[in-house]
Amino acid sequence: MAYRITSGCVQCNVCIPGCESNAISQGSDQNTIDPALCVNCGVCAANCPFEAIVFEEESVAVGSQD
Ligand code: SF4
Ligand code: SF4
Repeated sequence: MAYRITSGCVQCNVCIPGCESNAISQGSDQNTIDPALCVNCGVCAANCPFEAIVFEEESVAVGSQD
């Protein structure tokens, strides 16, 4: 499970100072979260005025059920 920044990001950068893990960086089109640094605190998702940060369930492995 992880937080991810979607294409709704307008790079207002409100989320960056709120992330105590410094996991958010500026990309060319939108900001990105480094999953290796993110501690899933959810602060960024709460702070984003554009609701561009979503929490995603980890994808379930396919092909294991038959
Ligand atoms: S607060 Fe939201 S819209 Fe602003 S830079 Fe962060 S993810 Fe993008
Ligand atoms: S969930 Fe927390 S640690 Fe992860 S990017 Fe957002 S503010 Fe940073």
